[in-house]
Amino acid sequence: MSDVKTALVTGASRGIGFVVASKLAEAGYHLAICGTTQTTIDKAAGKIRDANGVEVIAQAVDVSDRDQIQGFVKNTAKHFGRLDVLVNNAGITRDNISMRMKAEEWDAVIDTNLSSVFNAMQAALRPMMKARNGRIINISSVVAGMGNPGQLNYCASKGGVEAMTRSLAREIGSRGITVNAVAPGFIATDMTADLGEDAHAQLTSQIPLGRLGQPEDIASAVCFLASDAAGYITGQVLHVNGGMYM
Ligand code: NAP
Repeated sequence: MSDVKTALVTGASRGIGFVVASKLAEAGYHLAICGTTQTTIDKAAGKIRDANGVEVIAQAVDVSDRDQIQGFVKNTAKHFGRLDVLVNNAGITRDNISMRMKAEEWDAVIDTNLSSVFNAMQAALRPMMKARNGRIINISSVVAGMGNPGQLNYCASKGGVEAMTRSLAREIGSRGITVNAVAPGFIATDMTADLGEDAHAQLTSQIPLGRLGQPEDIASAVCFLASDAAGYITGQVLHVNGGMYM
């Protein structure tokens, strides 16, 4: 078993996941990261390795496929002999008003954002329970609490993630494993890049801190929840949204 703590981050090729993985590497963790394509996840892994000198396993994994995500989690624990932190970050949007929402739009978002989180957590439980130690951190969204027109599927997936977070926290607290969520507000990544100037200005006007968040703002919260300092926190949703929802 490696002496070095190990973290697995899904959806780490870019955006929030890449910065979360980078910050965990800075903190000294060995990493396993995934995205949808091997070339982009390899590139991300190369950058993290070069900057921090930690070991990084990078693999193309479709998190919406139960066997793929569970296999990735199990192989990571086997390779390093331990799995200390699981960050379920991969997520997509397929926006549409409810009357027009297609079955594929509903299914894709629920499979990628919700079912994947259950499947990854389930696979992580065996190594974490054996070690009587573990941190699970799920990335939710401010809209789980607020609701958002045109995002019924996305809001349902993130609301489900928060409910699962609380349920699993109750189930496995006695085994030394904490389960928490981080709910970002609007963060400057590819996911929000298509907002027009008007929508951007309108959104910013609703944020007391007067700006969109950066991936670093979310990564700091994740690293805190992964750290020893957060050892007595479980079943919580940590909101990081510049005050847009309180
Ligand atoms: P992003 O820039 O669009 O990046 C999404 C990441 O997820 C990419 O690494 C992508 O991989 C990966 N991914 C997507 N589908 C996947 C699949 N089926 N299997 C494996 N990996 C997959 O998104 P982001 O803004 O960083 O968002 C990260 C998380 O934060 C998501 O859960 C999102 O819902 C949540 N969030 C974001 C915001 C925001 O304002 N940005 C707000 C609230 C919550 P590829 O590069 O291979 O596509």
